[in-house]
Amino acid sequence: MASQEEGLKKLIAHSKEYGFVFPSSEIYDGLGAVYDYGQNGVELKNNLKRFWWDSMVLLNENVVGIDSAIFMHPTTWKASGHVDAFNDPLIDNKDSKKRYRADVLIEELLAKYDDKIDKEVEKAAKRFGESFDEKMYRETNPRVLDNQAKRDEIYARFVKALHDNDLGELRQIIVDNEIACPISGTRNWTDVRQFNLMFSTEMGSTSEGAMKIYLRPETAQGIFVNYLNVQKTGRMKIPFGIAQIGKAFRNEIVARQFIFRMREFEQMEMQFFVRPGDEMKWYEHWKEVRLKWHKALGLGDEKYRFHDHEKLAHYANAATDIEYEMPFGFKEVEGIHSRTDFDLASHEKFSGKNIKYFDPELKKSYVPYVVETSIGLDRTFLSIMAGAYCEEELENGDSRVVLKFNPALAPIKAAILPLVRKDGLPEKAREIMDDLKFDFKCVYDEKDSIGKRYRRQDAVGTPFCITVDQQTLEDNMVTIRYRDSMKQDRVAIKDLQKIIDDQVNIKNLLKKLA
Ligand code: ATP
Repeated sequence: MASQEEGLKKLIAHSKEYGFVFPSSEIYDGLGAVYDYGQNGVELKNNLKRFWWDSMVLLNENVVGIDSAIFMHPTTWKASGHVDAFNDPLIDNKDSKKRYRADVLIEELLAKYDDKIDKEVEKAAKRFGESFDEKMYRETNPRVLDNQAKRDEIYARFVKALHDNDLGELRQIIVDNEIACPISGTRNWTDVRQFNLMFSTEMGSTSEGAMKIYLRPETAQGIFVNYLNVQKTGRMKIPFGIAQIGKAFRNEIVARQFIFRMREFEQMEMQFFVRPGDEMKWYEHWKEVRLKWHKALGLGDEKYRFHDHEKLAHYANAATDIEYEMPFGFKEVEGIHSRTDFDLASHEKFSGKNIKYFDPELKKSYVPYVVETSIGLDRTFLSIMAGAYCEEELENGDSRVVLKFNPALAPIKAAILPLVRKDGLPEKAREIMDDLKFDFKCVYDEKDSIGKRYRRQDAVGTPFCITVDQQTLEDNMVTIRYRDSMKQDRVAIKDLQKIIDDQVNIKNLLKKLA
């Protein structure tokens, strides 16, 4: 646990020191679970958005984008079920006064049992060596069986309580399993209560005329209410998808773990409209496509897994999460949901407007079914930071922190560095910069020793450092230094554009999806 926390702490400190993420309104001591992206963070975020957007709207002929407003007619949220059912079960510890999500406390307990079992198996695997039969061990070892039985029992009660919306039983599971507050260490719990996660505000200038509206808790509804506009004006035929990137807001009960759980965050969602009955085929299709997208980020295939939902949301008939192994364990970064016709049918009912699609092939009208892919931009950002962060000991006894981003995602593509600040080198370096800046985000840096400047670029993940020296003035060659290998090559200035482009072009990532 300590080392997990250490890992996250280091990441938070590094993100702040190098202009990736700052606490919001920090001069006023910040605002809970709200963050700002700095000069490097915004570039990384934009690159991620670009990769997602292009993977949706360039690679799929039948997917187009929109950008809908954050404010929507309040009936939208009645129809979507968010007013009545977008709740989390919360519980307070009376001693520490800390608030928790009851479901999360129980999920953490289940994860502890899984951990115990895995450790037991790992130990045995070491002991028995090659002859180890894991399946048999799991089925016969008494300690494993005992832990598995306890886990299964808690799990069954948990799933039932969620299904029945039984808040008393959720509390009882916490009590029976002696779950203690990590802060106070006590088991002095309040009742479990439902808490709606939507933020509201008022629109209109007079108190009589003011209307209560919500900050959208997901971008999806902006797509649902526009689906026919897009279908008709774009002459789209089912199956087709609509993609959108935008802010969403949730008044999260527990806001911990940095940008993993924020109250204002950004989603990248795609709703795919299909014929009723075809949804499972498309659900499987998008699961595969989306996992491939994550793997293309280059953080290691073993870092991802699917996690099917225990309790389906009110709108879904199948749902899974893509989880990434964060410094604090496997966590959801994307949800893939088969949402049936719940949303569209409900909007039809609440609005009184016919929003059926006429299928020219079937020659009939129906409310389409929807499969959605919903990824958190901030969580993906966090996964990239965590996966890219490396501390390295160097041969000369030095050490460095380097962010090994895929070059296509790196905030800065190249740093242009005159070896010394005289003899016409800065001017030459500026010339190179002025040429490259039309294609790539570059920085110019002439301060401190070249070694220090390299470290600064390593720390923000710049894939190329280009050093201009005396020789450059004579032969128009520069030294290019590669971030990961730290190898240096002498190359012609005229070749720089191509060398950099070959590595940083977003096409490299997109081609991995083909
Ligand atoms: P969780 O169970 O972690 O609260 P969720 O299942 O409610 O997440 P969805 O409603 O499926 O999340 O939202 C889709 C995606 O939006 C999530 O996979 C996640 O990446 C992102 N997301 C949701 N809530 C937050 C948040 N509070 N902060 C940052 N990202 C979020």
